[in-house]
Amino acid sequence: MTAIRIAIVGLGKIARDQHIPSIAGTDGIELAAIASRNASVDGIAHFATLDQLLADGRDIDAVALCTPPQVRHAQAAAALKAGKHVLLEKPPAATVSELAPLLTIANKARRTLFATWHSRFAPAVEPARAFLADRQIKSVDIVWKEDVRVWHPGQTWIWQPGGLGVFDPGINALSLVTRILPRPFFLTKADLSFPANCQTPIAADLAFTDDTGVRIRAGFDWRQTGPQTREVHIETDAGRLTVANSGGRLVHDDRTLLDETRYEYLGIYRHFTELIASGTSDFDLSPLVHVADAFMLGRRHSVEAFSD
Ligand code: NAP
Repeated sequence: MTAIRIAIVGLGKIARDQHIPSIAGTDGIELAAIASRNASVDGIAHFATLDQLLADGRDIDAVALCTPPQVRHAQAAAALKAGKHVLLEKPPAATVSELAPLLTIANKARRTLFATWHSRFAPAVEPARAFLADRQIKSVDIVWKEDVRVWHPGQTWIWQPGGLGVFDPGINALSLVTRILPRPFFLTKADLSFPANCQTPIAADLAFTDDTGVRIRAGFDWRQTGPQTREVHIETDAGRLTVANSGGRLVHDDRTLLDETRYEYLGIYRHFTELIASGTSDFDLSPLVHVADAFMLGRRHSVEAFSD
């Protein structure tokens, strides 16, 4: 089978850290071009913009959109209309409603649209989902606290409308929890902390429940220095399940069931090649819906101005 020739659009932190090595490590797909205004990779065809790449007419089958969410809809629509399969970094969009039209275009063009949620490819996720499938769940505590200066140095788009602020990492937790919990849940309360000079929050405290009345709490904070915390604790009728280390570790009561290095993006690219081969798309909006709800329901608090 001929390898899928993919172009990366937006050569920034995640493209360099994860996409390039993961494409190199996946059978059936190869990096054929970069479209990025200010960056390139030695030996790989380079275009300043996606439009220039699409106008070039060279043999590109797919694009991975690693740009900020605010610009991805237009890029995804253009790429699909040009007959390319499209992989969207998370979050897949800056609004909930811009995604449905993309799926329509993808279906019409018979191309794959893959809205990735990288945390769902962490090793603890499917075992946790299987464990919880027939358990009675008593409570869920999500603690996702990071240092924004470490993970997003110099990035301004995260503080602008559509950049999501602390929900940029928080949506990783929501993508994981919406995968492992057996029932859908919904937001009941949100407190959002906005730095005085930013248009997106730096911290969020959220309360959710489901139709059985389970208490689900989430604390997202981008001001944590030192060790980073990305954990979900689930109390069940069969003890406490903890998904720790962003989904790399699974602990049942005091017993570690799994502790592995996370190679989430290898799973992403394997899945993308499978989707393309089967002519299907993968598109789940539920994590983004929870974020939109938080902006709708959230009480806004002003906190100290942010400086990088
Ligand atoms: P980034 O370092 O800012 O990279 C994004 C790149 O997109 C920039 O280097 C820039 O390249 C291009 N770009 C920026 N603004 C643009 C615009 N207005 N129009 C067109 N291109 C633009 O951001 P990142 O951290 O890689 O994050 C990108 C996406 O990946 C985000 O959605 C983020 O949530 C997701 N993600 C990030 C991480 C992480 O650890 N950082 C982890 C997982 C997922 P040029 O200037 O060269 O065009």
